[in-house]
Amino acid sequence: MLSKSLRTLKGVGDKTYQKLNKLGLYTFKDAIYNFPRNYIDKSNVKKIVEFSDMEFGTIAVKIESVNIANIYGKKNSMLKLRVFDSSMNCEIIFFNAKYLGDKFNVGDEFYFFGQIKTNGRKRVMTQPDYINYYDDNVSDFLSIQPIYSLTKSVTQKEINKIQRRVVKNNLQYISETLPNEIRMKNELVDISIAIKNIHFPESERGLKLARNRLVYEELFKIQVFLFAIKNRIVKTEGAIIPSVDISDLLEKLPFKLTDSQISVIEDISVDLASNKTMNRLLQGDVGSGKTVVALVAMVLSAKANYQSVLMAPTEVLARQHYDFFVKYAGEYGVELLSSSSKKKDVYFRIATGESKIIIGTHALIQRKVEYFNLGLVITDEQHRFGVRQRDELIKKGKSPNVLIMTATPIPRTLSLILYGDVDISVIKHMPIGRKPISTHYIKKHKREAMYDFIAQKMEQKQQVYFICPLIEDSEVMDLTSVQTHYEKICKKYPKFKVGMLHGNMKPLQKQQIMQDFKDRKIDILVATTVIEVGIDVPNATIMVIIDSDRFGLAQLHQLRGRVGRGELDSYCFLISNNLTKIATERINIMTKSTDGFEIADKDLQLRGSGEIFGVKQHGIPELKIANLPRDIDILNSVQNDVKDIFENYSKSKLEKFLDNYIGDTKEFII
Ligand code: ADP
Ligand code: MG
Repeated sequence: MLSKSLRTLKGVGDKTYQKLNKLGLYTFKDAIYNFPRNYIDKSNVKKIVEFSDMEFGTIAVKIESVNIANIYGKKNSMLKLRVFDSSMNCEIIFFNAKYLGDKFNVGDEFYFFGQIKTNGRKRVMTQPDYINYYDDNVSDFLSIQPIYSLTKSVTQKEINKIQRRVVKNNLQYISETLPNEIRMKNELVDISIAIKNIHFPESERGLKLARNRLVYEELFKIQVFLFAIKNRIVKTEGAIIPSVDISDLLEKLPFKLTDSQISVIEDISVDLASNKTMNRLLQGDVGSGKTVVALVAMVLSAKANYQSVLMAPTEVLARQHYDFFVKYAGEYGVELLSSSSKKKDVYFRIATGESKIIIGTHALIQRKVEYFNLGLVITDEQHRFGVRQRDELIKKGKSPNVLIMTATPIPRTLSLILYGDVDISVIKHMPIGRKPISTHYIKKHKREAMYDFIAQKMEQKQQVYFICPLIEDSEVMDLTSVQTHYEKICKKYPKFKVGMLHGNMKPLQKQQIMQDFKDRKIDILVATTVIEVGIDVPNATIMVIIDSDRFGLAQLHQLRGRVGRGELDSYCFLISNNLTKIATERINIMTKSTDGFEIADKDLQLRGSGEIFGVKQHGIPELKIANLPRDIDILNSVQNDVKDIFENYSKSKLEKFLDNYIGDTKEFII
């Protein structure tokens, strides 16, 4: 039944069918699993007096007068209704709406849904949706209505109608797939109730329950798949790294660890000390202090006489980590391995076990690098690596413990789903004393004021980043763009020292510039996105992002994270000469929020469905409804439940269960 083509629906001709195909909709099943992108809640009918300014809602009113006013000549007319309920009056306005004139008569009763503006005693609702009190479809109108993704030329109304018909008439054909005990344990509603409510919710609560169930199910399926793969791999014992006293290290650090940091370090220590190999993901927003957690883990490992590696995506970042680690753990033999470091003796010290703490770029996974006894592998900013690179690094040891570090806000983080039964630790809070980064979009006529403001801050010895976008197709153009800006900024600030940093520079040159910036020999760093991740110069307090329309939200958030790393007030200024609609939306989000979770969330909404970078190539389906990291709690329960199933089901029960989930592909995996 569910495999029936949508073409068989009455009213769906070839043309409509083709349009539906563009949305990926071919069969009834496709429509059933085409979850709404968003909802409008019209179910909440309120008295006019109860509305606060600019609030959306539905009112139930009687019409007192109808006026058509011609404005700006004949073409534009405005329809003004005066309406009232038992609480007060309201004015309803429609523009260009002569044709609506006969719809409304004095004495008629209507529902209007829209946004109410208040001005003293006056209430105005402009361009509302409406329905006559006695219309047959009132109950559909007064509901939480789904909004579906659209292609050009399918209207919301059309798709809504099709969805409604398919969903309502086929609920009985959708069969339950989740095991009963799992549903009971997690209080998940029945599949048909979930499907009905995700499309046409009866209430907020109904929607929430439906969503919970469907998110659970989606993540459950993927996890079962990943567990099945993992089950195939024989588990070997990992290096045992005892949780010894590290107060000598902690005393040296220039700050006290936050409670969040302590708690994730505890998670990690427990894993390291057990004989099972650690596989843990460490999430923490930009600037939350992940590096020091890596440091602690690596020192523990060194104290147990094991080697550990930290792989960073860029040379600049690897170098920064190296400097930090040498300072606080130099006695353990800290080594930097990148494409530009002196090789021979480094390889030797790594192979003999003299170096215990090894930091580098992907140079760490070259074939000629041999490790003595790798007990711990850490990847920083994992979203910048392929999963394959991480695996190659892991293969350098004999089943080493693995820690994957990443900032939360990048939707690409969703790829954590790739890591299967990884355990997750989150640094929930920023170090004390951080202030939100004050973020502004700078209009053209305000730019001079911005430049002046920056000069003032530099007078106070604070430092500034100017970021120019990387033009991907042309390295030459990229260069011109940084170069031009660099020259411009030098001219603008003759009194201050300006430096330039981009990907085409020699490693040593890059290193020198970064060092000068850290040492405050440079006031302004004009750079491409080479500094996007990880770079940490707490005295830099201003981030100017040129052509900010070229950057995605995750990237803007990462870039902005370069400032606000200390106790000084920090600023992020966004500039653009080409404000597209989406760029405007992104800028709005950036100016309103500094919370990575929230931004990741908004990013997903802007992109539509859960498009996950890099995941497709690995044969894992895109997420339709789950939204990580927001649904991380559900993911955690899913993982526990799936683990339980794999550990506790009898062999025959497990077989049967996998048949249900993985079906035909089972034999390839197990
Ligand atoms: P990220 O999580 O983005 O990698 P970093 O590890 O680079 O963050 O830390 C950001 C900044 O915060 C660094 O300057 C670091 O020294 C500082 N920092 C880390 N932990 C603390 C803490 N507990 N108290 C104060 N500052 C801290
Ligand atoms: Mg970092």
